[in-house]
Formats: sequence, structure tokens, C-alpha cells
Amino acid sequence: MQLRCYRCGWSFAIKKEEIAFAVESLEESGGVHYDVRCPRCRHINKIPLTQLQRAVPRSEGEEEEKLEEQEQEENEEES
Ligand SMILES: [Zn+2]
Repeated sequence: MQLRCYRCGWSFAIKKEEIAFAVESLEESGGVHYDVRCPRCRHINKIPLTQLQRAVPRSEGEEEEKLEEQEQEENEEES
């Protein structure tokens, strides 16, 4: 994913693995942007979570597993 520092205009790339990790931790913490430090001027660029989510395709398997777990818990409470 290519990013451009809005302070100095320097273009740099961040790895997909880093984006995926950022999306995961932001969703857990409820954050809405990821802080990326410009390698040139060291200014912090705030990247919106939505922009990161578009850059990495979600793994559908994880979502399904979570749903199944929730359903099981609900069933146990009822019986
Ligand atoms: Zn910069």
C-alpha cells in the first residue's frame, strides 16, 4: 500500500502484513485511524481505518467462526 506523507510529500509503502495487523488491533481497541510515521520527516500520518480495510481483503472464515461461537453460547444459556 502506497502512502504519501501529508507534511513533506514523501511517498512510502507499508506492507500488507502491517496493515492487516493494524486493522486487527484497531478493531479490537475501537480505534478509527492508524498512526504511520513518515520515514523521511518522522511526522505521524493518521491513516483512516476504512482506508486500511479496503487495502486488505478480510478473511471470511474468521467472521463465520465467531458467529458460530456466539450461537453456541446462546443455546447453552437457554437450555
Ligand atoms: Zn514526511
